[in-house]
Amino acid sequence: MVSSAVLGFPRIGAFRELKKNTEAYWAGKIDADQLLKIGKDIREKNWKLQKDAGVDIIPSNDFSFYDQVLDLSILFNVIPDRYTKYDLSTLDTFFAMARGLQRKATDSTKAVDVPALEMVKWFDANYHYVRPTFSNSTEFKLNGQKPVDEYLEAKSLGIETRPVLVGPISYLFLGKADKDSLDLEPISLLEKILPLYIEILKKLSAAGAQVVQIDEPVLVLDLPENVKSAFQIAYEKIASSEGLPKLILTTYFGDVRPNLDAIKNLPVSGFHFDFVRTPEQFDDVVSILGDKTLSVGIVDGRNIWKNNYSNSIEFVNKAIEKVGSDKIIVATSSSLLHTPVDLVNEKKLDSEIKNWFSFATQKVDEVVTIAKAVSGVDVSSQLSENAAAIKSRKESKITNNPEVRKRTAEAIADESMAKRHSDFPTRLVSQKAKYNLPLFPTTTIGSFPQTKEIRINRNKFTKGEITPEEYETFINSEMERVVKFQEEIGLDVLVHGEPERNDMVQYFGEKLNGFAFTQNGWVQSYGSRYVRPPILVGDVDRPAAMTVKESVYAQSLTEKPMKGMLTGPVTILRWSFPRDDVTQKVQSYQLSLALRDEVQDLEKAGITVIQVDEPAIREGLPLRAGEERSDYLKWAAESFRIATSGVEDSTQIHSHFCYSDLDPNHIKALDADVVSIEFSKKDDPNYIQEFSNYPNHIGLGLFDIHSPRIPSKEEFIARIGEILKVYPADKFWVNPDCGLKTRGWEETRASLTNMVDAAKFYREKY
Ligand code: GLN
Ligand code: ZN
Repeated sequence: MVSSAVLGFPRIGAFRELKKNTEAYWAGKIDADQLLKIGKDIREKNWKLQKDAGVDIIPSNDFSFYDQVLDLSILFNVIPDRYTKYDLSTLDTFFAMARGLQRKATDSTKAVDVPALEMVKWFDANYHYVRPTFSNSTEFKLNGQKPVDEYLEAKSLGIETRPVLVGPISYLFLGKADKDSLDLEPISLLEKILPLYIEILKKLSAAGAQVVQIDEPVLVLDLPENVKSAFQIAYEKIASSEGLPKLILTTYFGDVRPNLDAIKNLPVSGFHFDFVRTPEQFDDVVSILGDKTLSVGIVDGRNIWKNNYSNSIEFVNKAIEKVGSDKIIVATSSSLLHTPVDLVNEKKLDSEIKNWFSFATQKVDEVVTIAKAVSGVDVSSQLSENAAAIKSRKESKITNNPEVRKRTAEAIADESMAKRHSDFPTRLVSQKAKYNLPLFPTTTIGSFPQTKEIRINRNKFTKGEITPEEYETFINSEMERVVKFQEEIGLDVLVHGEPERNDMVQYFGEKLNGFAFTQNGWVQSYGSRYVRPPILVGDVDRPAAMTVKESVYAQSLTEKPMKGMLTGPVTILRWSFPRDDVTQKVQSYQLSLALRDEVQDLEKAGITVIQVDEPAIREGLPLRAGEERSDYLKWAAESFRIATSGVEDSTQIHSHFCYSDLDPNHIKALDADVVSIEFSKKDDPNYIQEFSNYPNHIGLGLFDIHSPRIPSKEEFIARIGEILKVYPADKFWVNPDCGLKTRGWEETRASLTNMVDAAKFYREKY
């Protein structure tokens, strides 16, 4: 019998139980024991669900109250000194490292004020991990034994599990040196950390664990030589210790072939590879297998589509032929952490479309069914149901709109669609004549405070408690307030404030054909922050204008230019679950054509400054350098240009980026007239320098919109002064880092006023 395995299960609960309770704990509404109990309940539910479904290899230690990498930092005592001086409990230390802690002194406790550790994206997923932060003073030792406790917890329920650990090379390579130890290279700590891995593995073995899943996802990255060679050193050392469980070295999210040398002769009992993402690596990885077990990642842990059983069975059979059925495991491609919990809770999805989906709970059944099928168990009814669903999706009108397909193909072939009529210097002449903006023009990124009142009214509207007319009146009054405010404080290019938008992607998804939305399809982004991505199900087109009404109304209230506000094609794609039946490039082009029509409609309606936000463009960058990456850069930039190039020279196209370090060359390729970028927390002079050659106009974000803190006028003046040392004054826009939707009105007014005053100060000087 071929066995089935799950690499990890979502830990948020089907109805976001973890979020609700974690936040209640932070707010002091429940105590630690109550929170720990919730964790225990979720784990029990998850294990039982997998056991009942018939999964052979069920994970443990895949649960975390915040992040599994941070769990490991706590376990290995990689806790910077600044978190240990307050006598916090381990749980509170853990949360302080995750999100910072600010607490006033009480009779019995000291005041606490400590920022969070850095949080970064987990490979190319929308999950974020807390970065291990090493110092020369880090005292490596085991701090508790979470993996063992959770293994035993499952065992006491009668469930045998395979514990999951992030492996030593990935743990170190994903970390960084703390500011007191900048010369420290994390991989150099291997010798210190290996004894701890050996110790915890020994304990797991003593508790009864036969096999441990050891995750080394960094194998899908471009690795420096010293990191590559560390694999052999680390796993030899581990293998030389007595009394340890077997290890399955697990990789996911990409291609390991460029690092095959590093793992070729590792003394582990098996390998797991992601064949959903990179089926082409099959022959090469099999060639290094020897007599090891091969875990075949074939059920997608990153998307919501039903598995294609017939393709998967064929693939696994090929593996069985090469390796032998006793050495094959059928598995999820990665942890299912990145998928929503259970499709059963979706009551509003169209039944035709719902039948195409599979969430984590359904994926658990999928690995079991495929394992059974290749073992000769009769699963014919599941296979025929599956074939019918695959066929229904393939033949549906939703997935095949001939007009959209034709237009997309033509746009791909027609290079002129991705090009403005003239180059930037020429456009600049007509734009200057048209808008006559002062030096250091001021603007904002789009959203203004999303107040409680806005949320209440939107809710009422969604529930049908107020009429569309009443809602429109309300939205108009919000825009009136925002426009009046901007005029009062003297901003130059105004925005309508986005009061009508719930979310910058969902709002457009709901207005376009080709999307589906869930009620409970939440996925953990970081800690207690979960997202509910729209699902791209079919060919995309725009049945009607999406933003023209609001922008035109806002423009009617002012003489100043009103900036239209759209979300770009790549960002809509990246923050949705994409289709897997057409390429991302095609999906992106379809979105860009819909947006092109919107841009042109805005222009026709007199909105001639238009911002198309692409905050997600950087995160779409493929993990490795090479062809895939250069292709991506090309189609991502082209999509943006298709969306924005069908306008007159005098129409000014803006774009906005945040959330990551940007490469000015990538942004240059978009050829926007003005870009605004998140910048306030960057103090690396090189970063400023890198942008100083940026050919078009640019607004370097001047204040952090995540914080209620109000920078003074002097602070703005100093900051602009710093930038002007390297940056030409006539290209420079003045704006915040990002939209103001999470801020209150009071600090918004004060910060923007100071910002505008600082711009005026420099206008007089230049
Ligand atoms: N226009 C959007 C806003 O201001 C941009 C948001 C973003 O970049 N994340 O809210
Ligand atoms: Zn932003």
